[in-house]
Amino acid sequence: MLNISGLKEGIVLDHIKAGQGLEIYDLLGLDRVDGQVAIIKNAQSQKMGRKDIIKIEGSLDQVDLDALGYIDHNITVNIVKDNRIVEKKKLSLPKMITNVIRCKNPRCITSIEQELPQVFYLADEKAGTYRCKYCDEKYTGHENRKV
Ligand SMILES: [Zn+2]
Repeated sequence: MLNISGLKEGIVLDHIKAGQGLEIYDLLGLDRVDGQVAIIKNAQSQKMGRKDIIKIEGSLDQVDLDALGYIDHNITVNIVKDNRIVEKKKLSLPKMITNVIRCKNPRCITSIEQELPQVFYLADEKAGTYRCKYCDEKYTGHENRKV
């Protein structure tokens, strides 16, 4: 049973691979959240052995679920209201992600025009391959991602 004590209203990201909690904190920009955020490292998990958990106080719109689905769609998103879990969301690989990863092609227009959003689309769902919307360069930088 997931311990949500201390969280009256918010989101609990469960089943994060052990050691990946901080990376997810950074990628989701959780330092910009107004409410409390807690990262629990190396929690016991029957399914995974060890796992990380992130608790975020406040509403769901603070979390980019597309970005989260991209990082690891096996993460469970629990919605907490009045100290109990009222909903569990399943994640999937998003069709499109914006400003989560950056194109590494030096000739890409986004390398020249820095104000352009970084947009990648899902090119191969089975392989979990993403390509840049502008230059079609395959993104290879996120080796840890489980597909
Ligand atoms: Zn590009």
